[in-house]
Amino acid sequence: MGEAYNQQYQHKHKQCVVCDENKQQGIHLFDSFICEDCEREIVLTDTKDKLYKYYLEKLRKIKLPSTS
Ligand SMILES: [Zn+2]
Repeated sequence: MGEAYNQQYQHKHKQCVVCDENKQQGIHLFDSFICEDCEREIVLTDTKDKLYKYYLEKLRKIKLPSTS
């Protein structure tokens, strides 16, 4: 029982591509993950804000599905 719980526990934790922290809650973008904290920050950040550029740079790390 303990092992099964651990496996499920680990499976639920994903590494956020923005803050590099392991979080449970968030959204999946293709094969990448953004935690809900960062997602909220991105949504709330003004596009003129320097932070917005920072987030965009982070999001560039996300690999889009490609056949090449
Ligand atoms: Zn994050």
